[in-house]
Amino acid sequence: MSKVKKKVKTIKIDVDKCNGCRACEVICASFHSAPKYSSNNPARARIRLIRDPLKDIFVPVYAGEYVEAECMGRDKYVIDGKEYGECDFCRAACPSRDVFKEPDSGLPLKCDMCEENGPDEEPLCVQWCLADALIYEEREEEVEEDVKLGDLELGLKSLADKHGLRTLMETVARMTQKG
Ligand code: SF4
Ligand code: SF4
Repeated sequence: MSKVKKKVKTIKIDVDKCNGCRACEVICASFHSAPKYSSNNPARARIRLIRDPLKDIFVPVYAGEYVEAECMGRDKYVIDGKEYGECDFCRAACPSRDVFKEPDSGLPLKCDMCEENGPDEEPLCVQWCLADALIYEEREEEVEEDVKLGDLELGLKSLADKHGLRTLMETVARMTQKG
């Protein structure tokens, strides 16, 4: 497989600066609503804030890839005397929890770095984080050329996992006949 240059976008998270305002969730949900900015339900955000104000715990976490199975074992972390839950740092939309799933359809959500925004614009959550807890960075890397699943394929894959491929195909066939 050949190597290609790829721009890697990252958002560095400084949990010590996060004050738990949840502006990042609101702007992400709003930007990705259809039509854009028509609603701002944080359950639709591709960034979620793990928060426990009494323990001064605020951890913004970005939605990553969908996974088919929940973990067989999980880890707890104690950092600076604060204990974090087993799934707190996990970015996956997985079968065992509701985060990073579109609340109406249950389809997985994934951070797309606001790709529909202008190429020179920073991701919206970064722009809206007035505490500077989210820091945008870019770098170039040489990687193997691969084929990535698009949003539509990811959605169909999760429906097939949930209902079975045969049921999904039969449903699509029925819809096609009705159309
Ligand atoms: S906008 Fe910034 S300070 Fe507010 S919750 Fe998100 S990361 Fe934390
Ligand atoms: S980078 Fe964009 S898509 Fe990703 S969490 Fe932030 S606002 Fe949402």
